[in-house]
Amino acid sequence: MSIDIKNLNIKSTHKHLIDGDFSAQELTQECLNAIKEKNKDINAYIEVFEKTALEQAREADKRIKEKKYSELTGIPLAIKDNILIKGQKVSAGSKILENYTATYDSTVIKKLKDAGAVFLGRTNMDEFAMGSSTETSAFGITKNSLDVKRVPGGSSGGSASAVAMNSCMGALGSDTAGSIRQPSSFCGLVGLKPTYGSVSRSGLIALGSSLDVIGPMGKTISDVEIIFEAIKGKDELDSTTIEENKKTKKQEIKIIGVPSFVNETDGLDNFAKNNFNESIKKLESLGYKIKKISLPNIKYAVPSYYIILPAEASANLARFDGVRYGLHKDGENGIDDYFKTRGAGFGKEVRRRIILGTYVLSAGYYDAYYGKAQTVRELIKKDFEDVFNPSNGETGVDAIITPTTTGPAFKIGEKINDPIKMYLEDIFTVPANHAGLPAISIPSNKKLDGSFDGGLPLGLQVIAPQMDESVLFEIGKNFLGEE
Ligand code: GLN
Repeated sequence: MSIDIKNLNIKSTHKHLIDGDFSAQELTQECLNAIKEKNKDINAYIEVFEKTALEQAREADKRIKEKKYSELTGIPLAIKDNILIKGQKVSAGSKILENYTATYDSTVIKKLKDAGAVFLGRTNMDEFAMGSSTETSAFGITKNSLDVKRVPGGSSGGSASAVAMNSCMGALGSDTAGSIRQPSSFCGLVGLKPTYGSVSRSGLIALGSSLDVIGPMGKTISDVEIIFEAIKGKDELDSTTIEENKKTKKQEIKIIGVPSFVNETDGLDNFAKNNFNESIKKLESLGYKIKKISLPNIKYAVPSYYIILPAEASANLARFDGVRYGLHKDGENGIDDYFKTRGAGFGKEVRRRIILGTYVLSAGYYDAYYGKAQTVRELIKKDFEDVFNPSNGETGVDAIITPTTTGPAFKIGEKINDPIKMYLEDIFTVPANHAGLPAISIPSNKKLDGSFDGGLPLGLQVIAPQMDESVLFEIGKNFLGEE
């Protein structure tokens, strides 16, 4: 059987592999061919693991023959360049880690290896996951394969383009303020930011440790669910991980909240606004009750994030001193070595955040900035708790929807010189990170023939209570008409 990656997803591919229609080695080779053909143009991958991928595929074929397989056995995936794979280079899109080789497997990779997945390569990203366009990478920009004049979003833009250009069956990204959901929206994919702590961060190069989470990106809800099920779980290497998803009695999901904030957002363009209203109508026609809700502190989500995130990032990035990892530049003395190494190794956006972060944490300013931002974060969390509280009768909702972004993928170069414009990309996505809640982006204007109504893809974001990823999958499947 000839392999047509475009018309396959993880679920259908799994069936073909088990039925012997094609082998994992043939499939992997097909993906490698697609990368060879398309990556020159798109730059989704920083590096392709041709040799190890084919070895893993051979191993997978053996497992399939012996009937010791999982749904991910022999499935080729792309991995964001901030997730450690033992023996492979990993750089977080930064010069400072160029040529650094991972000495151990991240927990998610360990789990995917156990499941028999194949790793095709590492994907491009904004440097240290700071950005929304994959333009801040030290390894060149990534283009959106649906329109090469546009960005794929970020920071997991390489992973998004890798899936969208039909070179892999799914990908891992990381999400601190929207880095899985926004690129998924820009590339017409499904992207899940899991509950904070449901997926181990061990082996993820840290950005903001209280916000970071690894998650899947794919073509369907089921595909994303399959990867999530494989990577989640408590891990002794990450003390913030929590027990398995709660097994509450399955209750009917009936009420979906729409925050008034959506219509009060200045930057929301008409294309996205109209599409969001269409999505509401569609959900109503599926039997959901739509309710207006208010999250009074959500308007402070972006400003407080850009205090908390630089503070945490500046602390996390202190370890890159030219002694232990990656790049080293010689100066006059030890201190000068640090200056030279960090000056040469970090890009502009990273340096901006380190300076901002050390400032808001410094004595005399800590309470005014960092302390205040933490208080605001608590208020945002409480806003969500209030609307999700089932005993809240009239005001309680089962899920919340917003557009994922204020518009479709923007042009390369359009926002890169205006940090505030770029930061506002997070406006709908960052609240879920503040509150640690699971959130998914699903294509909201995809037509049956696979094209997008109005030209470029848009996303609908669904947010659920903690550990209630199943709510997202259920609504998502109903919305997309998926089995
Ligand atoms: N736009 C966010 C930032 O630049 C994206 C962060 C993320 O989710 N990794 O910080």
